Amino acid sequence: MKFRFLQINFVSAMKVLGPEFTSHNALRQVSLEQKRWNMYGFSISGLSTYFQIPELDFCVDMGECPISAISLNHVLLTHSHGDHSRCLMRHNSLRRMMNNPTPAVYYIPEPVYDLAIDLIKAETLFEGVAEERFDLPSLECVKAGERFTLAYRKDLEVYPFHVKHSIPSFGYTVFCKKKKLKQEYLESPREEIISLKKSGVEITNDVREPMVSFMGDCLGESLWEERHIWNSPVVVCECTFLDEDEMSMARKKGHTHIEHLLVALDRVGRNMTCQTIILTHFSMKYSKSYIFETVNKVMPPEFKEKIRIFL
Ligand SMILES: [Zn+2]
Ligand SMILES: [Zn+2]
Repeated sequence: MKFRFLQINFVSAMKVLGPEFTSHNALRQVSLEQKRWNMYGFSISGLSTYFQIPELDFCVDMGECPISAISLNHVLLTHSHGDHSRCLMRHNSLRRMMNNPTPAVYYIPEPVYDLAIDLIKAETLFEGVAEERFDLPSLECVKAGERFTLAYRKDLEVYPFHVKHSIPSFGYTVFCKKKKLKQEYLESPREEIISLKKSGVEITNDVREPMVSFMGDCLGESLWEERHIWNSPVVVCECTFLDEDEMSMARKKGHTHIEHLLVALDRVGRNMTCQTIILTHFSMKYSKSYIFETVNKVMPPEFKEKIRIFL
């Protein structure tokens, strides 16, 4: 009887949402090529969100853990909703099963750090591991506003920041750390630079260049309140709701409506540093074609070239 009830519900859902509803498949990854790195993963609201950037050796969120994520050494968690977090420890256990000797590092927002430890312990006990054999994975407590360097990528620094969502949620901006020749030596001949360097003169400054900002789940307001994100060449932001009558739903659920994105773009202006805006986390009720059509219809022409849809 229970099975029959589920079947009827599914059929009625199909009628409401249309046949393309079934085409969202969290285990079927999509990919997006960028100039310096590629992004792989999946993101549909409520189903699953996970992003992998192999060239930079990190993942953001772990709503599923495909085999391709296992070799990546860092995982940044935005928040604890299950569709973003539920495979965090699957990543850890699959690495162990494959005898990967390097402990992956899991960066957990401070508001849920203690809860994450409780959850990991409970999961381990649930799987029948004796308490005395419990071995906590490598977790780092991340505080908003406190930058940190990735454990195995000393050239990458991360700036975590609060965003507004229904529960505590963080966004992340990833910076590339570089040394740049000081202004006063820019015109100097090569031989002089080499001899200054040999004599121990500090000829470079440490600089940080933003590479990408991830917004995580958030109300659209965070797109202009955290204005610094638009200094990143790539911004990955959620765009859960598209329809005109869903503004109040977006506020209630703590998600971004496409109208919010348009306000943010208008406020920041077309001269923003950001070259690519990757839209993610659409509501599962929209079909892929509806998402493409709607975004194309409402996006002002001057921003269309920047927009990529992660589907
Ligand atoms: Zn979500
Ligand atoms: Zn969420």
